[in-house]
Amino acid sequence: MHVTAIIAAGGSGRRLGAAVPKQLLEVGGISLLQRSVEAFTTHPRIADVIVALPPPLAQNPPGWLSGVRVVAGGERRQDSVAKAFDALPDASEIVLVHDAARPFVTPAVIDRAIAAAAAYGAAIVAMPVSDTVKRVAHADADSVIVETLPRDEIVLAQTPQAFRRDVLKAAIAVGRTEGLATDEAMLAERAGHRVHVVAGDAANVKITTAADLESARDRVMSASTISRVGVGYDLHRLVEGRPLVLAGVLVPSERGALGHSDADVICHAVTDAILGGARAGDIGQHYPDSDPTWKDADSLALLRDAVGIIRRRGWSVANVDVVVILERPKLAPYRAAMEEKLAIALGVPTDAISVKAKTNEGVDAVGRGEAITAHAVALLTRSTTNG
Ligand code: MG
Repeated sequence: MHVTAIIAAGGSGRRLGAAVPKQLLEVGGISLLQRSVEAFTTHPRIADVIVALPPPLAQNPPGWLSGVRVVAGGERRQDSVAKAFDALPDASEIVLVHDAARPFVTPAVIDRAIAAAAAYGAAIVAMPVSDTVKRVAHADADSVIVETLPRDEIVLAQTPQAFRRDVLKAAIAVGRTEGLATDEAMLAERAGHRVHVVAGDAANVKITTAADLESARDRVMSASTISRVGVGYDLHRLVEGRPLVLAGVLVPSERGALGHSDADVICHAVTDAILGGARAGDIGQHYPDSDPTWKDADSLALLRDAVGIIRRRGWSVANVDVVVILERPKLAPYRAAMEEKLAIALGVPTDAISVKAKTNEGVDAVGRGEAITAHAVALLTRSTTNG
């Protein structure tokens, strides 16, 4: 079953008083938007992710979003979701809609939403209420209770909300012509569909107020963190008539690296380092030479894929340090571009990446210009809260 996730991040909401849109505020050094998007890009059942961003941001999306489909959002939330829906691949059968302001959605919640939509056509994840619930009437500055609602009939809707494609299409059609809806379930109801409710998660909070943001930061900070290091090494022969690609950057050179893929030693060493830190095997096991998928592959794509592998196991990259050894040419002019490309592929800030180059002082095959090698060390972390 082909499942697509739409991340609604089209609002330019600045209710939190920050200078940037809410979805770009950081919790533990990672924006709400990145946390929300990666919950889906790393989920094994999600085939693709479409993100609706405010138009200015959609024009110039953050680098870590490369490889994710971005659309410019509309005026209201439902308009942003409609625009993302218009960009759905033909193959999509189940579509999830998630708020970028819920960065702590868990894989289990996503699984429950998908299963319920597959079974019933439309489903939300929601939480029971423990407080007594009153309906009130507002009079001037005062509020007066009108009635006490039966608590067992009340749930608090979260996202993701999941729909069979045709059901969401009908809901969106209603939303295009009707008034404001605060979620897609509301539109599906209006379109005449029964929307099922499955268990959400108390951790799947929506970050709306400054206090929410503060407690999210406290939670991430106080989570105990496990760290692991991984090491990677790679060597390729250098021959004439081959391009020299290092960390995805084409470096002008008389000789290039010989290999099955683009023979990018830096990407290969970094890929092995992060896989090793997560004890998730190695590059040869995940991307064998014998698999035609990876023939002439862009090694940055391999690296991005490996990031997905470790993320699914709960690991994040903290930093990566690389030493590349070759006799010539000098790599200094390309270093910033290489670090930038690695940072984007790894989904980390550029200041978490270091690439250093050395020569082998004329010694051995590397010194004679017959080969290039790279060593990489990666530090990975896993939080007990978000793992
Ligand atoms: Mg290699």
